[in-house]
Amino acid sequence: MFTLLLICNLLFMTTPTETPAATFTLIELPYEMSALAPNISEETLRYHHGKHLQTYVNNVNNLIADTRFVTMTLEDIERQADGPLYNNAAQVLNHNLYFLTLAPAAVAKHAPEGPLAAAIKRDFGSFDAMKVQLAKAATSLFGSGWVWLAENRNGNLVILSESNAGNPLRHGLTPLLGIDVWEHAYYIDYRNDRARSIDQLWDVIDWQVVEDRYGKH
Ligand code: MN
Repeated sequence: MFTLLLICNLLFMTTPTETPAATFTLIELPYEMSALAPNISEETLRYHHGKHLQTYVNNVNNLIADTRFVTMTLEDIERQADGPLYNNAAQVLNHNLYFLTLAPAAVAKHAPEGPLAAAIKRDFGSFDAMKVQLAKAATSLFGSGWVWLAENRNGNLVILSESNAGNPLRHGLTPLLGIDVWEHAYYIDYRNDRARSIDQLWDVIDWQVVEDRYGKH
């Protein structure tokens, strides 16, 4: 009996605490590095995920050490930080959202259904019209940045063009879909042709993931 009580005590003592992780880790991709080819090559994915995103993760971990940000979620850091920490934390968040929206063309859901599909029709006229607007925003954004499909508190959809690491959270909006228009996202596969890289991106966007993010706040 005493032994049993001791074991129970030990079990409770080792229950995880509520404290958030002190460091962030590189997300694992839910698909093979070659699974998005030819739309996004294995080489692009290896550099984009393994080099660029890893660097942003490392930078955030170095910058939050011994600061008040060390116990915060990535989202809260993104809302509250400025300068290099904001840039790097936002880039980690942006890339996590981006990579998890992608899926091999054979398994991706190629158009939204349900409440998101209805909202797209209401706010843009049609799914195709929304894609045209997103592509236009992505090709016309000057320099590095992100184009977002985002949702406001009333469930209305908006398209945002953000330079550098900009994310809808900073404007009180919920990010649903982010298109990375930094050259590192497409230069290996498409060189300077950003428009074609966007055109080829649609096949590997999984609208099931985007649907799952809609209306959750
Ligand atoms: Mn990127």
